[in-house]
Amino acid sequence: MSAEEQLLKFARQARENAYAPYSCFAVGAAILTANNKIFSGCNVENASFPCGTCAEAGAISAMIAAGEREIAAILVLADTENILPCGNCLQKIAEFAMPNTTVISANLSGIVRRYRLGELLPQNFSLEPNKNDK
Ligand SMILES: [Zn+2]
Repeated sequence: MSAEEQLLKFARQARENAYAPYSCFAVGAAILTANNKIFSGCNVENASFPCGTCAEAGAISAMIAAGEREIAAILVLADTENILPCGNCLQKIAEFAMPNTTVISANLSGIVRRYRLGELLPQNFSLEPNKNDK
């Protein structure tokens, strides 16, 4: 199974556990780290809407908790034509991005499109000037 197939599998599994009673829009995400480890997350909504978290944030938290720091690729999956990380999550991904971090959009049928993080967030906020080139 290729790394992308594994990301799809993990994101699908995480999506099944999404807590989205308000939007009914379940999202799963899976990260491939520089060390070839995979971490997943799902969206977790809250009655107080701003308290909710995106699937990407959950996957990043799991990655950090395990001691990993570099995102080689992140796949985001939902039951929709094309899904991308929100602006907030793009910035979160940028914090742990590598020079060629890939953002993969997927739905229940499979991978829809691959992007470089720099295409989606060309001017991220960073204390390291070179990170804006990602
Ligand atoms: Zn988000």
